[in-house]
Amino acid sequence: MKRSKRKLNVLKLIIFIFCILFLIIIFKLLLGIKKNSTSHEMINVVNKNITEANELLSKYKMDINTTYKYDSDYDKDTVISQSIDVGKIVNDGDKLDLVVSLGKIDKEKLKKDGINELGKVPIMMYHGIEDKLDSDTKYTGGNVDKDGYNRTVESFRKDLEFYYNKGYRMVKLSDYINGKIDVEYGYSPIVITFDDGKENNIRVTGLDSDGNIIIDKNSAVGVLEEFKKKYPDYNVTAIFFVNQGLFSQPEYNEKILKWLIDNNYEVGNHTKNHDNFSKIDSNKTQEVVGYMYSYLDSIIGDKYSKIVALPFGSPYNKGHANYKFILNGTYDGKEYQTEAALRVGWEPEVSPFNKEFDKTFLKRCRAYDNNGKDFDIAYVFKNLEKNRYISDGDKEKIVIKKSDNTKINDVYTNVITYEE
Ligand SMILES: [Zn+2]
Repeated sequence: MKRSKRKLNVLKLIIFIFCILFLIIIFKLLLGIKKNSTSHEMINVVNKNITEANELLSKYKMDINTTYKYDSDYDKDTVISQSIDVGKIVNDGDKLDLVVSLGKIDKEKLKKDGINELGKVPIMMYHGIEDKLDSDTKYTGGNVDKDGYNRTVESFRKDLEFYYNKGYRMVKLSDYINGKIDVEYGYSPIVITFDDGKENNIRVTGLDSDGNIIIDKNSAVGVLEEFKKKYPDYNVTAIFFVNQGLFSQPEYNEKILKWLIDNNYEVGNHTKNHDNFSKIDSNKTQEVVGYMYSYLDSIIGDKYSKIVALPFGSPYNKGHANYKFILNGTYDGKEYQTEAALRVGWEPEVSPFNKEFDKTFLKRCRAYDNNGKDFDIAYVFKNLEKNRYISDGDKEKIVIKKSDNTKINDVYTNVITYEE
């Protein structure tokens, strides 16, 4: 009897200990769930300064898109509106649009800061980015060939730092040609382009355990991604003009195209076989343009850009008999329309708001080094100081000098002028 009672007590003790352990586990689990919780109630940030608003919202891990506009009722940098109502449940990664005031229009300040949305925009033309040091080549400043069409990865990094430090911020080519220039107050747009679909534009070294491509850090996209992390305000983007060989990595080509589109890059048309439009007839012109559009369509649907980079920059004038077929034509029973075409140029283009802007015949700047001569990078950016596009930070309004009033395209009505 005594012995069985002791046994019962031991059993009770064991059950008690188990209960305690069970409660501790439950408690820890609950605590853990609370800690990892991704749901919050939306707070009010309207009327707050944008810096304070961002601080308050930092724990929410939302995808915040901030746009600026002039508003005389709100002080500069004050949040005017938020797209999610107060009290609504929000989760990590939810999109939140904030509109922030630029204050009331201060023409003296616009003049002082040289805001000029009729200024020029550089469209930089690159080809290959080779995994080499500048000292590995016998040419100037990281040029890998005599004409600097191919550059070292070291010089490409320097170029990107240079553009950033000069106050240039990247915009998509398709946004530029449509007059959608979303660049902060006081900064200037720049467009980056690559021709020929070189393997070193985006070299894939393998796939990770989830099947995602692993990109060589010393290929062009590897470097661009490095800058994306380094400077979140750089809006890193570029457009790649490809031929039917795409990026010469048959096993990864499809994944590469999809990755580019998903990661803020663009893909455009450089003809089927890098064809010279001055040496073929109109039927062949439609074949080499139309084929590339159909091919891109078969991989990424309509996500490609309807923009052609003219191989060899040819033809040199729009009067050429084939030109209209570059812009419009039929291939394999399907019609295509080209929205814009790029030449091999030598100087920055005019603002998209300029009435002389012609997106079907755009000039580019060759991104190379020639000791500040012959329209190299240093030459182009030095000249830009005389007349560069400088944004007012408001996408809707176009701020120009009064003396430029006759240059603006009449379709734009939201124009603010200031006296010099
Ligand atoms: Zn080319």
